[in-house]
Amino acid sequence: MKLLRLGDQGSAVAEVRAALTYLGFLPATPRQSGERGEAAPPAAPPGESKGAEPPPPAAEPAAAEGARSPAVGPAGGAGGAAAAPPDRFDRDLDNALRAFQQSRGLSVDGILGPDTARALEEARHNLGDRLLYFSAAHPFVGDDVAALQERLFNMGFDIGRTDGIFGPRTESAVRDFQRNRGLDPDGRCGPRTLRELKRLRRTVTGGRPDVLRESVRLLARGTSLLGVVVALDPGHGGDDLGIVSGGLCERDLMADLAARLTTRLLDSGLESHLIHGPDESPSEEDRAARANELEADLLISLHAEGSTSRHAQGVSAYYYGNARGSSAVGERFAQLVQREIVSRTDMLDCRTHPKVWDLLRRTRMPTVRLDLGYLTNDHDARALGSTDFRAAVAEAVLAATQRLFLPPEMDAPTGQLHVPRLAGRA
Ligand SMILES: [Zn+2]
Repeated sequence: MKLLRLGDQGSAVAEVRAALTYLGFLPATPRQSGERGEAAPPAAPPGESKGAEPPPPAAEPAAAEGARSPAVGPAGGAGGAAAAPPDRFDRDLDNALRAFQQSRGLSVDGILGPDTARALEEARHNLGDRLLYFSAAHPFVGDDVAALQERLFNMGFDIGRTDGIFGPRTESAVRDFQRNRGLDPDGRCGPRTLRELKRLRRTVTGGRPDVLRESVRLLARGTSLLGVVVALDPGHGGDDLGIVSGGLCERDLMADLAARLTTRLLDSGLESHLIHGPDESPSEEDRAARANELEADLLISLHAEGSTSRHAQGVSAYYYGNARGSSAVGERFAQLVQREIVSRTDMLDCRTHPKVWDLLRRTRMPTVRLDLGYLTNDHDARALGSTDFRAAVAEAVLAATQRLFLPPEMDAPTGQLHVPRLAGRA
């Protein structure tokens, strides 16, 4: 797709403006009408726009069943010809787009690229706009799915996590809910199920239920690391070299690190798998699917970085999350591993960040992507090129993994966990 940015002009810009106005990131103007033929909702601060009751559903949401593929957006599109909004990408639009990107955990660059376009499309679905059901070929993705998941979750149904993707687990939660309410358990969220959901809507007060639930699951593991399955994802492979700079190649460095880490994990009684071989570089979606198939407890994706600036340097860790919520365990593991790496090496701490990248959100287990320094920076390149550094990173990741799965009372100060002592505890 063509990228859109400040200064661009055209009907595509007008559509972006209409979408951001609809979502409350730009004030509505009187002559502009909403895409559904209703008045656009009043502007609301980004953080609050999702807390409000969604607008009434379009007429007969179930009528759309089978009429169009779930991958196709709402008919009509934004901004009909009757009320074409300004089609210039001006400073206001740039600011609004950045605010939207920030609220979604996307890179805040003010540029409409594929990720932002997809997030914008997803954000425009309100619960009730369309019949939702599980489709393996074209899963429904959007804020309406996230809203459905949140409601089910708040009522105690097991939806996995609120990722905005209608998967098999969401379907089975809908079935449970329907059975529970005496409805036909067909796993589809249509008008009757929606009415019942709204009637029963309750809010959870205090605490973060997702944190509670995930830590309960971890506790159930007891004090053994035996049987913990760690999936490793070397960032690149085959013809995909990743970053190449100063004679160093990201693909090869990360393959070496993955091999070292595999050995250390296996030595310590954990199960460890590479999700792809050295000769291939699957898509993010494929990588997530493979980790899901493995039923891994943890997925770690290994990358180095590159920048046009030779000064950019440091290590960062990414986990699934945005303004609506995050993977509590993913966040904890990202913090643990970041802390261990920074304390065991002299790399700059670029901290941990929530992101909605496909690999992070399509995996069912806590997933962390590590960016282990910049090959374009002299200091970082020297580190990454040395086997001592890669061995230290492998130890750091192993220690963080043990901290994650062992109960807090067995915790040792950062950088000091003595790995062999804990290996193979039953
Ligand atoms: Zn990479």
